[in-house]
Amino acid sequence: MLQLMVHAIYSNKDTFLRELVSNASDALDKVRLESFRDKDLEVDTSDPHILLEADRENRTLTVRDNGIGMSRDEVQELIGTIAKSGTAELLQQLKETNDGAAAQELIGQFGLGFYASFMVADRVTLLTRRAGESTGTRWDSTGEGTYTIETVDEAPQGTAVTLHLKAEDQEDSLLDYTDSTTITNIVKRYSDFISWPIRMEVERT
Ligand code: ADP
Ligand code: MG
Repeated sequence: MLQLMVHAIYSNKDTFLRELVSNASDALDKVRLESFRDKDLEVDTSDPHILLEADRENRTLTVRDNGIGMSRDEVQELIGTIAKSGTAELLQQLKETNDGAAAQELIGQFGLGFYASFMVADRVTLLTRRAGESTGTRWDSTGEGTYTIETVDEAPQGTAVTLHLKAEDQEDSLLDYTDSTTITNIVKRYSDFISWPIRMEVERT
């Protein structure tokens, strides 16, 4: 069901990166705000940034931020439950629209941007630690409605979303999301307005 949905919504797979970068940027905004509000919050705001890490050998792309992060409850609530109240409604509305722009607007409203990851990945792992908390959370899903979630002792503050890229896309160099030129072009196209630094690390093999 999830697969069907993401394909229906996006005509251009590349937009997954815009969704992840936008979430990372929001997380950096939030940690800045929260550190202003709560001076006692144990939070690192020395070098706020977004890091894109491509691993060509393992065919993964990681979008990492050192923003607010998520508690285990937040992961469960916000990302864990695809079967949220809005989902059925979203599906119904998507069925009734053939307009790509309208579909984009719908996905924005319902806050399912993160799930755009499954357009290009057959498995997504998220490692996160909320600012001020001592333990982190690892979430893992193949996007078919189930997921695993566990508490981990060590995790950097913020969130790292790792996409295990679909094999079917890797033949086509335009869709090689571990290629630095491809990544750079997508970031320029969709995320040029982001005010936080976006860095890239590409591991060559
Ligand atoms: P939206 O951004 O429209 O809320 P998303 O599906 O993109 O919808 O994300 C759902 C929620 O998951 C976000 O609202 C946010 O609370 C949480 N989230 C996603 N990515 C991150 C991140 N990198 N850091 C912190 N929270 C995140
Ligand atoms: Mg979002």
